[in-house]
Amino acid sequence: MFGIPVSRGVAIGRAVLVASSRVDVAHYFIEPAQVEPEIERLRAARDAVAAELGGLQRDMPADAPSELSALLDVHLMLLHDEALTGATGHWIRERHYNAEWALSAQLEVLARQFDEMENDYLRERKADLEQVVERLLGALMHLGGGAPSGLGVNPRDFAGEDPLVLVANDIAPADMLQFKRSVFTGFVTDVGGRTSHTAIVARSLDIPAVVGAREASRVIRQDDWVVIDGDVGIVIIDPSPIVLEEYRFRQRQSELERERLTRLRHTPAVTLDGERVELLANIELPGDAAAALEAGAVGVGLFRSEFLFMNRSSGDLPGEDEQYEAYRAVVEAMQGLPVTIRTVDIGADKPLERMSLHELRHEHVLNPALGRRAIRWSLSEPSMFRQQLRAILRASAHGQVRLLVPMLAHLSEIRGTFDAITRAKQQLNESGRAFGAVPVGAMIEVPAAALMIDRFLESFDFVSIGTNDLIQYTLAIDRADESVSHLYDPWHPAVQELIDRTIRTARSRGKPVSVCGEMAGDPTFTASLLAMGLRSFSMHPAQIATIKQQILRADSRKAREDSSELQPTA
Ligand code: PEP
Ligand code: MG
Repeated sequence: MFGIPVSRGVAIGRAVLVASSRVDVAHYFIEPAQVEPEIERLRAARDAVAAELGGLQRDMPADAPSELSALLDVHLMLLHDEALTGATGHWIRERHYNAEWALSAQLEVLARQFDEMENDYLRERKADLEQVVERLLGALMHLGGGAPSGLGVNPRDFAGEDPLVLVANDIAPADMLQFKRSVFTGFVTDVGGRTSHTAIVARSLDIPAVVGAREASRVIRQDDWVVIDGDVGIVIIDPSPIVLEEYRFRQRQSELERERLTRLRHTPAVTLDGERVELLANIELPGDAAAALEAGAVGVGLFRSEFLFMNRSSGDLPGEDEQYEAYRAVVEAMQGLPVTIRTVDIGADKPLERMSLHELRHEHVLNPALGRRAIRWSLSEPSMFRQQLRAILRASAHGQVRLLVPMLAHLSEIRGTFDAITRAKQQLNESGRAFGAVPVGAMIEVPAAALMIDRFLESFDFVSIGTNDLIQYTLAIDRADESVSHLYDPWHPAVQELIDRTIRTARSRGKPVSVCGEMAGDPTFTASLLAMGLRSFSMHPAQIATIKQQILRADSRKAREDSSELQPTA
């Protein structure tokens, strides 16, 4: 099975199928000694749901439709069916899954059996089963004693188990984030493009991943052995021993290669002809700063602050103080190195509420990538925007902070941004809060911005090219849509021209310019970006060593000569 390779390396493991709506169910391993108490938790949940359903039946008004009572009977029958709660115990005993995880695993198995039923009436009972499972999950949550750390997935803490790979139709970026300290050694999803935010988070986890594998979650079964080749985008189900041996060999090779590359950590990134290059890190959460330093980044080039706003109930967005603490934590963790904080880029495939791409596209907004996202969202929520600006400004009292604004296209948006910054500074002065000098930069990720780069450079201290969006908007290709991913072409002459023009113009005005899109961390583009004059690259920490190796081997003058001979393809 083929998909789009988004995070390199080879993963081999047993499939854990997770329905998109259930990725937020707690997934963690229990100690062997916890098996019986966990099964007891499950029984207690079943009894609670049985009592709840029994109560509903008892209190049913005499004139209630008879179907309602019949439905409750069906639910009670499903609840007591050995195939549900009994078989769920298997996942707890044999796999040491926590009860919630075991229940969702068993639901996936049963749902598939229902899907295959010939009889319409029986097939439709799947919805009832799902409702019963929802009730059980609710009861388990009520009973407590769940995830040790509150986060969805926790590292396995005992050895001897098979490695696991996660298979889902779609994973929202917010949910992907929960897999940061994950038990999974690989990911496969049916949908998504190379630079969809789900793919970006997968890459930041540095775990082999394939997206856009269309039928994966239908064809792969719970517990199947799966090989994920994140280098070329191949997914193999139930590999033969020979194939498995080949992939295990490749796995060892790539581990050795990674170890070798880590030795470059403290080597400065300088080309053969002596050009010094700045390699910065892209991070999503404050905790990622450690990985950035560890990888040898000389600063944070992109802190995607919107991830602080995700996985929260609406109405509970992080306030000024909470944001300030988060930004300050990154600034302090980076030990004096610069930290570029991007104001929220909410919207498009990063909705505030937990929503899959499918829901976004079909139920809420027809064209989310062109909708109210990033700076458009911030300017339409002025008090929230100023709150974030104050938090960022306050963090600058603790180190070097730069402020970066996403998706600007209009001069009115530039004015609106600077007005908000001025107002935020005034408010801080009035309340006597300290802040330092904060350079303000614009992301160049809409063709309009690249074409007006001169005007942008008049207002901003620096620019950073967001190639992920720049490609999407230049070529009118939804970056998260696998069905057009073959047209998402970073080498397209129009894209190359806009990048080249932005770098050249910024350099000629003496303003810093970097690339923080996925292109910066892809070794295929290093020479060409160097040739355009780029000297600042920002990428996931895991990619820094690979790009550094490219830079150490590159001759920027020769790259410039070579690139003028190259004919880009459309
Ligand atoms: C980009 O568009 O290239 C970028 C870095 O921003 P994001 O991927 O978060 O949209
Ligand atoms: Mg972007």
